[in-house]
Amino acid sequence: MLAALYYGPMDLRLEDCPIPQPRKGEVLVKVAAATTCGTDVKSFRRGHPLLFQNIPAGFGHEVSGIIATVGRSVAQFSEGDAVVVANSAPCQHCFYCRRGRYSLCENLLFLNGAYAEYLLVPEPIVRQNLYKLMPGTSYIAAALTEPLACALHGIEASDIMPEDTVVILGAGPLGLLLAAVAKQRGAHVVITGRGTQRLAVAHHFGADAVIDVSGLSSEEQVENVRNETDNLRGADVVIEAVGTPETWKLAVAMARPGGLVNFFGGCPSGTQVSLETRSLHYGELTMKGVFHHTPLFFQQALELITDHRIDVEALITAQVPLNSILEVFDLLLQKQGIKYALLPPAFEETSVITADPE
Ligand SMILES: [Zn+2]
Ligand SMILES: [Zn+2]
Repeated sequence: MLAALYYGPMDLRLEDCPIPQPRKGEVLVKVAAATTCGTDVKSFRRGHPLLFQNIPAGFGHEVSGIIATVGRSVAQFSEGDAVVVANSAPCQHCFYCRRGRYSLCENLLFLNGAYAEYLLVPEPIVRQNLYKLMPGTSYIAAALTEPLACALHGIEASDIMPEDTVVILGAGPLGLLLAAVAKQRGAHVVITGRGTQRLAVAHHFGADAVIDVSGLSSEEQVENVRNETDNLRGADVVIEAVGTPETWKLAVAMARPGGLVNFFGGCPSGTQVSLETRSLHYGELTMKGVFHHTPLFFQQALELITDHRIDVEALITAQVPLNSILEVFDLLLQKQGIKYALLPPAFEETSVITADPE
């Protein structure tokens, strides 16, 4: 089979690999669609602290497909089922799992390898985080369950009340999905970012105001955001979805007293931020980090996609054959496009592929 393997930063290779065979509890999925993600682009550029234990490693984690083979003792799935595969499973028995904090699981199992013709799904994911698709669900939309699950986690942690002004820094795929979910919670949504392509779709994803920050100083960005809030008070909730120390600081400066700041975007390891203590203390700010998703958010995201409640496919710039993956990552490094759907040879020809029974 054709598979993209990660050998290290800036070293991704498309190779011919043996098709894996599922062992007990595992499932082999024939990939129908895999979508690119900001995390992949970051890993490609600079590596990732958690994702790659052994090199070469499979690459890509947003994926849907059809079950090709099931291993022994897999009762809940059978060959031919259309499925979406989550990219992780918690262990269910560590300190954090026992407290329901699954995204902090000490043994969180990550799955990569979506950019391939087949993907072997490990037993813990088969058991906890593999889902059948309803007929009529597009495979590309289903592959986007993972980022939407992260956005749901981010919004759930932000304590949004109806009519709150929610500012989202960053108009990347996650910023746009956060905007869509915040809008569904009744918020007045302001999104800031750069890149005409991304900002152009921000309204489609529920943003009430879109601020293009290219060329704006930090002070101007804060001022522009405050202008969107009642009495220039600052935002009720600010969600940072860029992942740089500079935007983390900006996020804090945009929140009103008593507001909440969600550090959703992960910064490069080793970076630090310094914050003005006065506004944190006297302004009684709440600040929190949010990472990844949990099986519950994954299920909720799939429901939203199945019911067409969020047009996730509007994030897809183009559908591309899997063997163009290196060109796609070149484009993403140059910030061209939002997300791409990579289609293995068996699915290349179909423009709309859905989980309809054949
Ligand atoms: Zn992702
Ligand atoms: Zn655990």
